[in-house]
Amino acid sequence: MDECKLCQEGDFEKYLISEDQYWKVYLNPNQAYLGRGLIKLKRHSEDLFDIDSNEQQELFDFGTRYRNAVNELFTPDMFNYVSAGNRMPHLHIHIVPRYSSEREFHGITFNDNKWTDTYDPSEKMDLSEDIIKNILESIKSRF
Ligand SMILES: [Zn+2]
Repeated sequence: MDECKLCQEGDFEKYLISEDQYWKVYLNPNQAYLGRGLIKLKRHSEDLFDIDSNEQQELFDFGTRYRNAVNELFTPDMFNYVSAGNRMPHLHIHIVPRYSSEREFHGITFNDNKWTDTYDPSEKMDLSEDIIKNILESIKSRF
C-alpha cells in the first residue's frame, strides 16, 4: 500500500523515540496531553488482532517501556490506549497520559481539560519545537 502515509517515512521520523524489529515508537508532536505518544507497526496491517505473537510481544514491551518512562517523568493518573485508524488505517496505538491536575514542564503548564471524560484527539496546544524536542529527549533518555 504505497499510498498509505504511515507506510512511508516522512517528517514524522524526527519524533522517533525508539525502533525495534516490528514497531516504532514516537512522541506525538501534539502535546495537549503531556507525554502523548504513538506506537506504529512497521509493516502495513489494519487490525490490531491480525498481529502475530512476536509482534504482540514487542508491542507490550514497547508500550510498557513508554508508559514507565512517562510515569517517571510526569506521573500521570492513568493512560488511555487508543487504536482507531479512522483517518490513518495503518495499525498504530495512541498512548495518552491523563491527568487529574495540572503539570508543569520547563515553565509551561499543561492541563487535561477532559479529565474524567474521553480525551479530545483534536485538542491542540501551541508549543515551540524546542519544548517538543525537550519532551522527546526526556522520554528517550528513560526509555
Ligand atoms: Zn500502511
